[in-house]
Amino acid sequence: MAPKVKYPQRMCVVCRDVTDQSDLLRLSCHDKKFNIYSGTGRSFYLCFGCIEDEKRTLKGLARQCKHGDMKYLSTQLKEIITDVRKS
Ligand SMILES: [Zn+2]
Repeated sequence: MAPKVKYPQRMCVVCRDVTDQSDLLRLSCHDKKFNIYSGTGRSFYLCFGCIEDEKRTLKGLARQCKHGDMKYLSTQLKEIITDVRKS
């Protein structure tokens, strides 16, 4: 018997692994800034494994946000990781 899919499946934009939406971090991009998805705008997913790999994640983010400033993306990424760990 095939296992039932409990959660919607989504793809991580960095490693392109498809996994449960609940295991992914949903982010959105607005004015070349990315943040935790708040319900509006374009969104994309990152898996928690990729978040630990900053270099890889930044490349994915640069692609999603059409932003080439890695320093700036890195600062934002660190803030988001801090927020995620707090909650
Ligand atoms: Zn990933």
